[in-house]
Amino acid sequence: MARPRTCLGDASVGPTAKGDWLTPEHPSKGTVLLVEDEASIADLVRLYLERDGFRVVWRTDGPSGLAAVDAERPRLVLLDLMLPGMDGFEVTRALRQRGGRVPIIVVTAREEEADRVLGLELGADDYVTKPFSPRELVARVKAVLRRTDPDPESGPEPPLHLGSLTVDPARHEVVFEGRPVQLTAREFELLSYLVRNRGLVLTRDQILERVWGYSFPADTRTVDVHIRQLRSKLGDHAPIVTIRGVGYKADDRGAGGAPDPAGTPGQAGTPGPAGTSSPGSTPGPTAAGGG
Ligand code: CA
Repeated sequence: MARPRTCLGDASVGPTAKGDWLTPEHPSKGTVLLVEDEASIADLVRLYLERDGFRVVWRTDGPSGLAAVDAERPRLVLLDLMLPGMDGFEVTRALRQRGGRVPIIVVTAREEEADRVLGLELGADDYVTKPFSPRELVARVKAVLRRTDPDPESGPEPPLHLGSLTVDPARHEVVFEGRPVQLTAREFELLSYLVRNRGLVLTRDQILERVWGYSFPADTRTVDVHIRQLRSKLGDHAPIVTIRGVGYKADDRGAGGAPDPAGTPGQAGTPGPAGTSSPGSTPGPTAAGGG
């Protein structure tokens, strides 16, 4: 049973002079769970995250880290790979297998190890290699949170733009090439997830987990079927690219079913920055807190 608690006891096992590993609760950007057995690194990371308004809970081994996910309901987990008790691979796998969707950033000394976490599709969202700059780490934390768990306190999520596609999560509306597109709830979630992560390749397992909430393994053909439906509703220029053998990505430079290595200059435009809405078609990019 997961019961929220604020317990200093099992958190104060680390060799610190200060003793209080839990930072005071205050209205903040939410809780980050740090699972790290090196106190010097933990102190540094905590300092920077707190300064940025996060509450930090620190655990020093795999099993207590796993338990803290239930107890503390963090918005994100910063997970060291080499840990006593249970390593970061096992923690990630255990979390995902029981359906946990909390974003995970792996912190490791070796890039190849982190690659394994992502490559084996255990379900980490990003990784940072040691030694890292604390500023970069905080930036990664915020980027992953923006992608996976938009801050509820920052109001409704603003419309997402990709070329001539606009996805408005607040209004649950999609406009593509100047015309509204009717999607089912699941199709909408799928498209939003892809566009939020535009330019990034997403595996079928990642999509299943984020959009359907499945812990894998699951039948990845579900994803293919929904992608097909999305494409048929969006039409020939659907900005969804198939990455053979891997998954999909949202990219308006390669419309249709395959990557377009040559690029189509006419369509490429300026990728990325929001605000490239097609003229006259969108209901206005500033999300007034209407609905
Ligand atoms: Ca370690």
